[in-house]
Amino acid sequence: MSENTLFRSLDLIEPGDLVNYHGSLTDWHGLYIVELCNCGLCRIRDVVQSDDVRYRLIDPWTERDATPRCVRRQSITRSTACA
Ligand SMILES: [Zn+2]
Repeated sequence: MSENTLFRSLDLIEPGDLVNYHGSLTDWHGLYIVELCNCGLCRIRDVVQSDDVRYRLIDPWTERDATPRCVRRQSITRSTACA
């Protein structure tokens, strides 16, 4: 019971968290600040299937033209690194 509670708290990702992206886009692997994706597609998806939350990744260190968006929860892990 307590282990499950701990897992759930570690599993929780909230906007502003530092996360490690390890999804299918290997060029983008690394650390990002995460926000909820608010593109048009995700807003529609939010209405249709609210369990399927997608995230937008923001690179706070370099100004890339584009960063991953509509990222699945399974593709990111909350970083334990202390910035
Ligand atoms: Zn999106």
